[in-house]
Amino acid sequence: MATALVDTRNRPLRNLRVSVTDRCNLRCGYCMPEEEYVWLPREEILHFEEVSRLVDVFIELGVDKVRLTGGEPLLRRGLPALIRLLAARPALRDLAITTNGVLLAEHAPALRAAGLHRVTVSLDTLRPERFAALTRRNHHAQVLEGIAAVPRAGFSGTKLDTVVIRGVNDDELADLIEFGRRVPAEVRFIEYMDVGGATRWSAEQVVSRTEMLDVLARRYGGIVPVVETSSAPADRFRLPDGTVFGIIASTTAPFCAECDRSRLTADGLWYLCLYAMRGIDLRGPLRGGASSAQLKALITGGWTARTDRGAEDRLALGERTPLVQISGLKRDPHLEMHTRGG
Ligand code: SAM
Ligand code: SF4
Ligand code: SF4
Repeated sequence: MATALVDTRNRPLRNLRVSVTDRCNLRCGYCMPEEEYVWLPREEILHFEEVSRLVDVFIELGVDKVRLTGGEPLLRRGLPALIRLLAARPALRDLAITTNGVLLAEHAPALRAAGLHRVTVSLDTLRPERFAALTRRNHHAQVLEGIAAVPRAGFSGTKLDTVVIRGVNDDELADLIEFGRRVPAEVRFIEYMDVGGATRWSAEQVVSRTEMLDVLARRYGGIVPVVETSSAPADRFRLPDGTVFGIIASTTAPFCAECDRSRLTADGLWYLCLYAMRGIDLRGPLRGGASSAQLKALITGGWTARTDRGAEDRLALGERTPLVQISGLKRDPHLEMHTRGG
């Protein structure tokens, strides 16, 4: 394993989220707030060989976990070909995807055959009418079929991610845990974040980890934390019957101090933090003929200078309004959550 590069806060470069498209077949209101979008120009989207070349440089600098995301990654044509390229890198301990599940029933076997290790599906509700209101699309049944196809295709270690929003789906925590048990998949509840497209975010809508644990303790009795040392953002907990679930408290208890993740957009901008307003252009040098050593120097320079701790800075503000307004999203599509990959 490569010796990991560390930033100004001694955080290693280990975890890379690779967005393969900014397009999506859902319109979740907390991620994509409007109807009209400025999409990334097609000619600027990285080819699979380009992604693979950049990932190789990241691996040399210590990255050992890659997660494919989007937009909706399964909308990227021929995705298994990219997975095949990445799965051939033994240094990648973990190669996963985050998907909304709409196209998963169709694609799960090919993803598995290509060598993908794990699947995370975003699922905010078990109720079709709520799903339609949240996502502005009627694809709930397809998502449930997609989730069912994951274990059938031979995957294990599956996760279901739920953004919990007060007054929207906060009465479904136990139902989602029960559903996850049947899949089987570990459910992770994510606090609603004021990032990118979340222009309708308000502090009142955030259900904190403490509150979620209270609700679940009333239903299930004693919940105990799972003791583990890792930089994974989820705090994991165990119910009395042994079921494990996670809570990602990114809003009320950010984990920036241990954050080893960065993000590559589909058009090759590298963001050092989910909240960063600017990324480092890797596409330009890559297409301009930069050598691997030059790309390595660029990435090394970026990471060693990294000071970001976006969620902690936001928390320290006290009074909070959404990070970006619609006008800002229109000016720079890279500020959108569906562009930088969540
Ligand atoms: N389209 C895929 C999906 O939904 O799984 C992958 C991309 S999506 C941007 C990645 C994750 O970001 C999803 O689980 C989504 O729920 C989460 N997300 C988007 N906006 C969020 C917000 N405002 N707060 C918390 N999580 C958010
Ligand atoms: Fe929803 Fe994911 Fe699409 Fe955003 S990118 S609108 S979270 S499905
Ligand atoms: Fe990492 Fe930025 Fe998220 Fe903090 S806000 S955990 S530094 S990506």
